[in-house]
Amino acid sequence: MDLTDIINLTYVIAAVLFIFGLKMLGSQATARRGNAISALGMLMAVVATLLTKGIAFQWIVVGLIVGAMAGAIAAYAVKMTAMPEMVGLFNGFGGLSSMLVGWAEYHLHPESPTFTMISIYLAVLIGGLTFSGSVVAYAKLAEKITSRAVLFRGQQVVNASLLLVIVLFGVLFITFPEGAYTLLIVAIALSLILGVMAVIPIGGADMPVVISLLNSYSGLAASAAGFVILNNVLIVAGCLVGASGLILTNIMCKAMNRSLANVLFSGFGTVVTKALKSAKGEVKAMSPEDASLVLEAARSVVIVPGYGMAVAQAQHVVRELGELLEHNGTEVSYAIHPVAGRMPGHMNVLLAEADVPYEQLVEMEAINSVMPAVDVAIVIGANDVVNPAAREDESSPIYGMPIINVDQARTVFILKRSMASGFAGIENPLFYYDNARMLFGDAKATVQALVNELKSI
Ligand code: NDP
Repeated sequence: MDLTDIINLTYVIAAVLFIFGLKMLGSQATARRGNAISALGMLMAVVATLLTKGIAFQWIVVGLIVGAMAGAIAAYAVKMTAMPEMVGLFNGFGGLSSMLVGWAEYHLHPESPTFTMISIYLAVLIGGLTFSGSVVAYAKLAEKITSRAVLFRGQQVVNASLLLVIVLFGVLFITFPEGAYTLLIVAIALSLILGVMAVIPIGGADMPVVISLLNSYSGLAASAAGFVILNNVLIVAGCLVGASGLILTNIMCKAMNRSLANVLFSGFGTVVTKALKSAKGEVKAMSPEDASLVLEAARSVVIVPGYGMAVAQAQHVVRELGELLEHNGTEVSYAIHPVAGRMPGHMNVLLAEADVPYEQLVEMEAINSVMPAVDVAIVIGANDVVNPAAREDESSPIYGMPIINVDQARTVFILKRSMASGFAGIENPLFYYDNARMLFGDAKATVQALVNELKSI
C-alpha cells in the first residue's frame, strides 16, 4: 500500500464518518456525538491532505490554525439568538473559498482540460453568488439592512438576463480558455451581483429557507472546487452539504406550506397587514396570581415556546414550571413548531440546554390532533407560529403556513411584553379570542412569577 492508497482510504473513512455524523444530527439524543464524529472525519481529511505530495505544508497548517481560531472565537462569542446570522456568514465564506480556489487554479493553469475549466467556472460562479447572497442574508437577519423584501419593476427580467449573460460567458470561457481572464473576472463580478439581486427580493421571514438553500449552494461550490483540485473528500463533503441543505430547504418550505419558487420570487413580507378581518374584540390581561390558580387546576398543559423565550433566556425557569406542574399531577408537553425562533431547531437547542426531557417534546402535527382536549396552552414569546390568521384569513401574508392550534385549547396564556407583532410583522387575532389571556411582561420574569405563585399555593 503506497501513500496514495493510504490517503484515499483515509478519505473514504472520513466520508463514512461524515455520513454517520449527519445521520446522528437527525436526533437530539445523538446530535452532539454526530457533530463530534463529523468533525473527526474533517480532521482526518485535513491531515490526509497534509500528507499529499507537493502541497505547501506550512500554509495548510497556518490555514487550519487561523480557521479553527476564528471558528472557536465566533462560536463562543455569538449569542444563541444570533446563530442563524453566523451560519449564514459561514456559508458565505465557504462559497468565497470555493470561488478563490477556482480563480487561483485558472490563474496558475489557464490551459486546463475542458472538464477542469467547467469545474473552475462552476466553482467561481456558485461560490460567488453564495458569498454575496449569504452576506445579504446575514445583513437582513442581523437587521443591518431592511429585512423587508426589496422589489422593483422588472426585477425578475433583470435577474434572468444576468443569469443568461453568466451562462453565455461560461460557454465562451470554456470554449476559448486562453486569454479568457477578463471574461472570468467579469463573470465573478456578475455572480456577486446575482447573489445580491437574488436575495434582496426575499423577505426576512423567509431568510431561514434562503440560508438553508445557500448552505446547499456552498456545498455544490465546494464540490466543484473538489473537481478543480481533484480532491475526492472535498467532492464527497460538498455533495453531502449540497444534498442535506436541499433536504432542509424542502422541510422548511413544507413547514410553511409554501413552494420554493414562492419563497424565492413572491416578495413575501413586503406588505404589512395592519387591520386583519378577524383581529377584533377585547384583549384580556391576566395576572400571574390568577393564572397560577388556573394552572394549578389544569390536568393537561402544553407549553409553546417561540423567539421571545430565546430573547428572555427563559428556558431554565420554563423547565422549572414544567416540573412543578408535573409534580402537581398535570400532564406537561412542549409543542415545537419547525420554524419557531430564528433558526431550525432553535427551540430544541434551548430546551435541551435546560435539560427538558426529549420525550416531552411533541411535534406540531401530533400536538394539534389533541389540542381540543388540552386545558391550558402557554405560549411563551411565540407569535407567528400560533397566529390563527395563517389558517383562517386568506388575505394574510402567512395564509397557508401550518401553525400550532393553541386557540383550540380550552384556555390560552400568551406571555409577551406588548401587543407588538412577531417576525412576519403582522397582527395576531389570537390575542382577541375569548379563551385567550395575555400575561404581559418579560417571559422570564412572568414564568418566574408563575413558579413563585405555584410554590406558594
Ligand atoms: P415571532 O417572531 O413571531 O414572535 C416573537 C414574539 O416574542 C414577539 O411577538 C415578541 O413580542 C415576543 N418577545 C420578544 N422578546 C420577549 C421577551 N423578552 N419576553 C417575552 N416575549 C418576548 O416568533 P415565533 O417563534 O412565533 O416565530 C418565528 C418567526 O421567525 C416566523 O415568522 C419564522 O418564519 C421566522 N424565522 C424563523 C427562523 C427559523 O429558522 N426558526 C429564522 C428566521 C426567521 P413583544 O415584543 O410584545 O414581547
